[in-house]
Amino acid sequence: MNAGRFAPSPTGELHVGNLRTAILAWLFARSTGRRFLVRVEDLDRVRAGAEAVQLAELSAVGLSWDGDITRQSERQNLYNDAVARLLRDGRLFECFCTRRDIAEAASAPHVLPGHYPGTCRDLSQFEREAARRVRPAALRLRTDVDRYGIRDVLHGPYTGLVDDFVVVRNDGVPAYNLAVVVDDAEQGIDQVVRGDDLLSSAPRQAYLGSLLGLPVVEYAHVPLALNPEGRRLAKRDGAVTLEALGAKGWDAAEIRALILRSLGLPDSSVEAALGAFDPRLLPREPWIVDPSHLSSTDAAPVPPNR
Ligand code: GLU
Repeated sequence: MNAGRFAPSPTGELHVGNLRTAILAWLFARSTGRRFLVRVEDLDRVRAGAEAVQLAELSAVGLSWDGDITRQSERQNLYNDAVARLLRDGRLFECFCTRRDIAEAASAPHVLPGHYPGTCRDLSQFEREAARRVRPAALRLRTDVDRYGIRDVLHGPYTGLVDDFVVVRNDGVPAYNLAVVVDDAEQGIDQVVRGDDLLSSAPRQAYLGSLLGLPVVEYAHVPLALNPEGRRLAKRDGAVTLEALGAKGWDAAEIRALILRSLGLPDSSVEAALGAFDPRLLPREPWIVDPSHLSSTDAAPVPPNR
């Protein structure tokens, strides 16, 4: 059955920007009759206890999800199968480049900005064997396009860069771009709602999905929360998590109301917001969060619920 999802990386508490994205993912899924799944993206940096905290935070703002949560760390077989398939199709090559190698080679005039410079694409077997003695290989996708197009509910048709990106890191861990594509397809997720910092990754993911013969997904890359300096909101910006705002007198319902109002939606509950949800009416601008204005509920009074 079709589903949408929220896929946090368990690196710490969610801040109001993350919670806003989660609420949007829930609204998009529920308003289109989809299931809503939560997947913990724990292949990379993980902070002990963060998963439980994040799930509690999602519940606190009124979100519920279908079925059990899934964890990428428990799905290695699926990633291995996809890698085996790509290898069989001749779609992967070993890459021994360090970041520095890539930065140096990427400045050559024939390399498209932001593209892998192709250093290891056509190594001979002899060169590969020699390189393996120096460092382990990452596996990169052998692409035959420079760009790929997707459709995004908020951004419309979007075409972005695709290069020979890493599919398996040189420590053997599946790269985010592989795991997300494999998981979304395996979980029946056909609607991907997430922050618009990931819009430029979507063409790579959609292209990889096409090589694996996976269904096309619908994207909605939603505006991020920014601090007053215009940078992506982060915990170091001050009291921007449920916990930190809680210490200043905010309860979860007030924070949820703040988020829903920032979306132009009724603020009494996520169900009330769902009743009025229309993606066409969503703000297209980033949400500017000034933590100094959130420092107490007196400073930013929450009007009576609509
Ligand atoms: N785990 C990613 C993050 O927390 C989100 C990935 C996705 O939604 O595709 O930024």
